[in-house]
Amino acid sequence: MKTFGEHAVVIGASMAGLLAARALINHFHSVTVLERDRLADTDRPRKGVPQGRHAHGLLARGRVVIEDFFPGWTDEVVASGGLLGDIGGDVDWVGHNVRLKSGPSDLIGLLAPRPALETHVRRRLAAMPGVTLIDGCSVDGLLVADGGQRICGVRAQAGGELPRAIKADLVVDAGGRGSTSPAWLKALDYELPSEDRIEIGAGYTTRSYRRKPTDLGGRLAVVIAGSAPNWRNGVILAQSEDRWIVSVGGYFGDHAPDNDEGFADYVGTLPVPDIYQIVMTAEPLSEFMTYRYAANLRRRYEKLTRFPEGYLVFGDAFCSFNPVYGQGMTVAAQEARALDECLQRGNRDLARRFFRAAGAIVDIPWNIAVGNDLRHPKVEGERPAMVRFINWYIGKLHLAARHDPHLTTAFLHVANLMAQPPSLLKPSIVARVMKGNLFRPSIDAGVRVPSRAF
Ligand SMILES: Cc1cc2nc3c(=O)[nH]c(=O)nc-3n(C[C@H](O)[C@H](O)[C@H](O)COP(=O)(O)OP(=O)(O)OC[C@H]3O[C@@H](n4cnc5c(N)ncnc54)[C@H](O)[C@@H]3O)c2cc1C
Repeated sequence: MKTFGEHAVVIGASMAGLLAARALINHFHSVTVLERDRLADTDRPRKGVPQGRHAHGLLARGRVVIEDFFPGWTDEVVASGGLLGDIGGDVDWVGHNVRLKSGPSDLIGLLAPRPALETHVRRRLAAMPGVTLIDGCSVDGLLVADGGQRICGVRAQAGGELPRAIKADLVVDAGGRGSTSPAWLKALDYELPSEDRIEIGAGYTTRSYRRKPTDLGGRLAVVIAGSAPNWRNGVILAQSEDRWIVSVGGYFGDHAPDNDEGFADYVGTLPVPDIYQIVMTAEPLSEFMTYRYAANLRRRYEKLTRFPEGYLVFGDAFCSFNPVYGQGMTVAAQEARALDECLQRGNRDLARRFFRAAGAIVDIPWNIAVGNDLRHPKVEGERPAMVRFINWYIGKLHLAARHDPHLTTAFLHVANLMAQPPSLLKPSIVARVMKGNLFRPSIDAGVRVPSRAF
């Protein structure tokens, strides 16, 4: 089926770059992935992916797509210490200051450190015939042909060597949120994509702790989405049988301190005490680590009317979301599937077709992330009636889902990108939401509205 061309180059060997390369090898005789970092064959976080030190959950949709690309991948992650769980039954979800009633679902989640997920994808990809990974190699420019109409490769530099030209029929930029594509395109006199930027001033503080299988009643994770009055969020995820990772954070500079007392105080203001219990009693296994995330950022490549042939932008370089919704890796996987499908239909007008498909993929997670961020009164952005209605309705759904695991599962299907948001407006779901709001006790056991407003 290698009909498209001889050689493709991918910039960046993080999750998006690796998954793009997996799609490309179905259509090119060879694919070369160029990564600036040294890729030690360990599960360690690395400089080019600093977020790898922080809690990462892979949504159910992402696991399914990656498993399709690399059959047996889930089992390999589990064999190296990862944990499989029921996202409905083994995880507690807290949003709008209420804990959703958990119950068995068909949503299978995979928990493992972010670097481990990437390493397993990388090993599988590197074992494929035709794939070459070159690490310690930085791309610093594009090669152009046809008077700048076409990209025909990259200029790359490894170690102390002189820069060299690497020819390619297609170049995919998966260089992350800090992608150089806008600067490179500008230098070639192309119009820049418009940017949707929603400032949130988020910050995460993370620490790992010793885990006992009996902790938190055997649950594998608790996810707390921020709500008024303090808008603080937090996750605790099992990373293996004996390790938790905790990441907590808030908006606009309300970030958790990176010292014992301040961190514990901050965690104590979350609407449920689960993470606090672990932070106060479990043995810390790491230092505190912090990460700042200024804004949701979407580059609208799909709106450009002129774009060079032989070039695509992918993953976080295309769109990056407030990490609290855990969508980035899954969106990259969905984009890889879309790229595969676009290439199956030939090379004509590839950029336009791919960007349109990727834009449609991104629409849903973007609306989920930004729509929810817009509940925060200080987040600037338009709040059309539909956004206000959806946020109001999702609040009501949460209240009803305190006692109705069916609603929890319906919500989790959407949050895990397994179902479209309109599925929550089906008459059967609306009826349950209404019923759940007619008879509602004033407050749940174990959930309190945080006392400190910021
Ligand atoms: C704090 C935090 C928590 C997150 N939590 C989740 C989560 O729970 N679930 C989830 O799905 N997603 C999460 N994400 C998002 C997720 O990390 C990314 O979406 C995912 O890593 C895919 O990103 P990417 O591959 O496009 O870019 P990145 O991961 O940023 O990787 C870019 C790669 O390109 C390389 N590179 C860049 N420029 C060059 C160059 N010129 N030459 C060579 N190499 C280059 C870099 O070294 C790096 O390896 C989180 C993000 C953050 C910040």
